[in-house]
Amino acid sequence: MRTVYLDNNATTQVDPEVLEAMMPFLTDLYGNPSSMHRFGGQVGRHIVQAREQVAAAIGAQPEEILFTACGTESDNTAIWSALHSQKEKKHIITTRVEHPGVLNLVQHLEKRGYEATYLGVDAKGRLDLDELREAIRKDTALVSVMYANNETGVLFPMEEIARIVKERGVQLHTDAVQAVGKVPVNVAELPVDFLALSGHKLHAPKGVGALYVRKGTPFRPFLRGGHQERGRRAGTENTASIVALGKACELAAMNMAEERTRVKALRDRLEAGLLAAIPDSMVNGDTENRLPNTTSVAFKYVEGEAILLLMDGHGICASSGSACTSGSLEPSHVLRAMGVPFTYAHGSIRFSLSRFNTDEDVALVLRELPPIIKRLRDMSPFREGQEPKGEKPACGC
Ligand SMILES: *Cc1c(COP(=O)(O)O)cnc(C)c1O
Repeated sequence: MRTVYLDNNATTQVDPEVLEAMMPFLTDLYGNPSSMHRFGGQVGRHIVQAREQVAAAIGAQPEEILFTACGTESDNTAIWSALHSQKEKKHIITTRVEHPGVLNLVQHLEKRGYEATYLGVDAKGRLDLDELREAIRKDTALVSVMYANNETGVLFPMEEIARIVKERGVQLHTDAVQAVGKVPVNVAELPVDFLALSGHKLHAPKGVGALYVRKGTPFRPFLRGGHQERGRRAGTENTASIVALGKACELAAMNMAEERTRVKALRDRLEAGLLAAIPDSMVNGDTENRLPNTTSVAFKYVEGEAILLLMDGHGICASSGSACTSGSLEPSHVLRAMGVPFTYAHGSIRFSLSRFNTDEDVALVLRELPPIIKRLRDMSPFREGQEPKGEKPACGC
């Protein structure tokens, strides 16, 4: 059976050109760039090149790029640095819809003497910028707001956010893991202090990321040890993956136009086709300001997990908007923050495309999914007039 992979916000296929670029560093060129001998030392210039490629993709200077092990490490490092370079400031502002790489750390910090403000979103997943303005205090160390949401694809107005935050002299971090490679991101025009990106979301392998740190922003390392990354991130460089990330960033810039035309057209066709074929369905989130590859579609009266299972039977990979924990299906924190009605939130499916998707992929979903939803609805205990009164329905998983 063919795999129809529509879960690119979870992870992506390594581009064959990226694999080719990294291969020598897993075979012949295995030296340590810190070594005194030429065999190791020659690897260093490839890291220099990768740093230039990553910097170019986001309009940064190469010395503003740190290589990390993942997007999560980049997020954690930015928050750690902001708090440790401004010890007297104990307040953090973030949003209710961040990735766990930010959200869970901030929640942890609240138990360690820090205060947090979580900005809410409206029904379309949009921030209220007045709420942001009012939340900034004298002791705010950092504002951390994601560039694009991984579940809905909603893009936050980063330029306006940056203007508000920097006017008040507060450090700003953006988790741009979902944005880089899909929409233009340019720190030369966007005054953020920190920006996180991750390799495996843009066709590089898992286990490599980068953090942009603006020149002049005070920095405190998260990992201490050797002098790698000019003392800002210790640990022997993951040379193969760093080279891969550089190549992936270069390819992302080259393929950006396709992302915003062909991939977007595929996404739009998939979305429109599903809404037309399946009654009681809707799109979650702001469709005006959204990544070109993502759609979160809610199907009323069905459980996302059941949809995923039946789609899996046809080789279709997507994600649901719920996380099944301890026998109860909790809709995702993102859909809950948006106030998506219970009967829709449970049946929400995220489709996320990439440049490796084809017309046939979309056609297959449009053929297979409507009968799946119909079948599940015929079995569902939660049909019209039978809305569940209590909170959570029993979990079928
Ligand atoms: C995937 C993702 C991350 C985490 O990146 P990893 O490299 O998997 O740690 C962080 N933020 C967002 C928005 C993501 O989608």
